[in-house]
Amino acid sequence: MQIVLIEGDGIGPEVTQAACRVVAATGVKIDWVKGPAGIPAAERYGDPLPDETLEMIRRYRVALKGPCTTPIGKGYKSINVRLRQGLGLFASVRPVNTLPGIRTPYEKVDLIVVRENTEGLYAGMEHEVVPGVVESVRLITRGAAERIVRFAFELARHHGRRMVTFCHKADVMRLSDGLFLEVARTVAEDYPFIQFEEKPIDNVCLELAMDPSGFDVLVMENLFGDLISDLGAGLIGPAGPGGGLGLVPGANFGTQYAVFEAVHGSAPDIAGKGIANPIAVIRSAAMLLEYVGRPEAMAKIERGVAGALQAGEGLTRDLGGTGTTNSITDQIIKHMGA
Ligand code: ATP
Repeated sequence: MQIVLIEGDGIGPEVTQAACRVVAATGVKIDWVKGPAGIPAAERYGDPLPDETLEMIRRYRVALKGPCTTPIGKGYKSINVRLRQGLGLFASVRPVNTLPGIRTPYEKVDLIVVRENTEGLYAGMEHEVVPGVVESVRLITRGAAERIVRFAFELARHHGRRMVTFCHKADVMRLSDGLFLEVARTVAEDYPFIQFEEKPIDNVCLELAMDPSGFDVLVMENLFGDLISDLGAGLIGPAGPGGGLGLVPGANFGTQYAVFEAVHGSAPDIAGKGIANPIAVIRSAAMLLEYVGRPEAMAKIERGVAGALQAGEGLTRDLGGTGTTNSITDQIIKHMGA
């Protein structure tokens, strides 16, 4: 099976290599086809996301991606935004769940953040009206709103989830989130067996901070989803630099392609030191394996991660240990079992 591997930059090459080792240890044979992106690609090809990388993903359909930095101030558009728009990756999925051995204020967090990936403020449509005045466009369309809410309900159905919460700010952005909310209510009627709730995004933040156990699947527009994903990583992570960023996996889905990546960025402060936590990318690779029809390999990796965290050996610094990317990877492989 051929799958595209985007190593990215910063800690990207270190953590994606760890993920490839773990995937190999599951016994699933993957021929990784490397696609350049990020700072090395900008230096080599003059573009941090060369067309050939996009073409590769179109050819092989599935990719595992490390974090990629978009060079600032050189006129480049965000790599992630280009990838998502160029491949029609309209849905981002981030499972946030407590893991064994990690002490957090909350004992049982098990939610999935579903984020619309192509519109909203995060799409970065901005222009200067006159010097000193800029305008950002918050585009919401009925088609994209319906597609993402339906995706969230289908995901809930597939995973046997009980509730979908639609997060919005319709009381202030009456037109844009008003439309989104109206669409969400209509789609929800097609899923009477799944509970539907609608909540202002500020209330969602408050409730997540107080008691996240009441949430299940959350669906929202692009920028809200960006914020809630990091908030989620904070809920399940240890108290330390990066919180749970090294733990939370993610995936971007379109109708034809899927790109799997961790929530965290390229962490330049620790890049090249061999101390980055690879678990988020390893768990993203596990999601990839489920997507390509190997759920048993995913289960094996999740078992390995849980076992390694519980044993508490070889843990990286963000998890309170003194280990390295390699030592935690070794532990995960050790705990995967035959
Ligand atoms: P971006 O804007 O690209 O999302 P960022 O600057 O917001 O990036 P990160 O690059 O994710 O954030 O880093 C935030 C903090 O978390 C840094 O201190 C970084 O070292 C830490 N961190 C992020 N990912 C990891 C990881 N996998 N292992 C250990 N620490 C990490």
